[in-house]
Amino acid sequence: VKGADNIEPQARLDDLKIIQEIVNKCGVKTRIVSAPEVEVEDLGDLGKHHDVSPRPPAPAELLKPRPPVVTVMGHVDHGKTTLLDSLRGAAVAAGEAGGITQHIGAFTVKLSNGEQVTFLDTPGHAAFSAMRARGAHVTDIIVLVVAAEDGVMAQTREVIQLALNENVPIIVAINKIDKPEADIDKTKRDLMQMGLVLEDQGGDIQAIPISALKGTNLELLTEAVSTQATIMGLKADPAGLIEGVVVESKTDPHRGKLSTAIVTRGTLRKGAVLVSGLAHAKVRGLFDHNGKPMTQAPPGTPVEILGWRELPLAGDVILEVETEKKAHSVLRWREHEAKHHKAEEAVDEIRKKEEEHLAKYRAERDARRLAGKFRMRYGPREKENIEHDDVPRVSIIIKGDVHGSVEALLDVFDTYTNNERCRLDVVHYGVGNVSEGDIELAKAFNAIVYGFSVPAPTNAPKEVTIRCYDVIYRLIDDLKKEISSKLPAVE
Ligand code: GDP
Repeated sequence: VKGADNIEPQARLDDLKIIQEIVNKCGVKTRIVSAPEVEVEDLGDLGKHHDVSPRPPAPAELLKPRPPVVTVMGHVDHGKTTLLDSLRGAAVAAGEAGGITQHIGAFTVKLSNGEQVTFLDTPGHAAFSAMRARGAHVTDIIVLVVAAEDGVMAQTREVIQLALNENVPIIVAINKIDKPEADIDKTKRDLMQMGLVLEDQGGDIQAIPISALKGTNLELLTEAVSTQATIMGLKADPAGLIEGVVVESKTDPHRGKLSTAIVTRGTLRKGAVLVSGLAHAKVRGLFDHNGKPMTQAPPGTPVEILGWRELPLAGDVILEVETEKKAHSVLRWREHEAKHHKAEEAVDEIRKKEEEHLAKYRAERDARRLAGKFRMRYGPREKENIEHDDVPRVSIIIKGDVHGSVEALLDVFDTYTNNERCRLDVVHYGVGNVSEGDIELAKAFNAIVYGFSVPAPTNAPKEVTIRCYDVIYRLIDDLKKEISSKLPAVE
């Protein structure tokens, strides 16, 4: 507990002891660690202003069109991987002769009109969700692969729902049209039933029949994506400090730590200093999916970055900072924050456990109270027992003005009920004034009626003890006295 400077340490400790007592009651062990044992990290010149965050959006006149970023999704076995392989193959073939297909997490397909489309090279939900989990919105368009032999299946529906939720437009690739069982019309009807109104049905969702395996209509599909991108008017600011998202990350035995990123703002060049999560880089090299060195990577382009000191995480945002010194101070700050966050999580964990204990404790207590009520209902029989029970007892009835005060009193009394030398029986409790029913009960059980913040009844019979208080500790003091008076004298 760290309090304001003007709070007396003793007062703080007293508070802690009270908290400790309550917590101990719930069965949780606590230890008060005195200040000298606790290491308080001196943050020195560290402050929030040492972190970096994305810049505010650029003014519209600075924005330039950028390639769309596409995720391929669909039901298992409908052909996502095959489609990505074919597209990547085509992309490599279009690159330099002798280019080797390599998986770096994303690649770009060039259209004959010069336009580009960037595909994330990990099919399915996992990639999309991993990105979203970190708050990255990299996917502009989803290509939904539906095998024409199967039509819409469970995961197809999931993708449609996800796209709706995330507000990402869909382009349908009706796949495997080379197969004799392929039924394009049925697949379209299925999609229509899912609420996707296709272009040839008067809607605006493009559906391209393809064969991922044979490479049929892949160019048409890429064009459809490009058209969609044009409709969306995707733009980015290619100047200023870099912003991007990590798509994939790995350690290469020969080249060291590598990440593939998609630049979302600015134009990445060698020498840039980047931070991403708890990692930083001074960019030593940029490569495309052919492993070919790049001099620069504008927005929407996937790029493999060499020069990371630590490995960044897929989905994390990349930001450029002016100097390495700044990068170090940002990382130091973030490490501190991460530690702090971890500590908070640990505290949350403890809190959760405490709550569980508390719930258990409450349930047990309520059960005990119910048992009390049970006794009350079968009063006469219980009364017989009392006579054979030589432990002295104090029976009480509690009435309070509000639920909260009655609860508070019961909580305190719970600590007395198991006293071996004197038993405290709460025969009845409730909210409201002391009623005739309460008085009758008190008579039957020879109980004392305690009222808290309720008026004492004026016409109560003399043989019933009714005590009303407005201060809890006075009421408790009285009860303690009552209990002591019943205890056998100590030798
Ligand atoms: P994924 O689970 O969606 O990634 O599906 P895959 O790409 O692994 O494809 C599943 C199976 O369908 C594989 O055996 C592919 O060869 C086959 N396949 C994918 N696309 C086509 C296609 O256009 N035509 C035919 N005939 N088979 C395909």
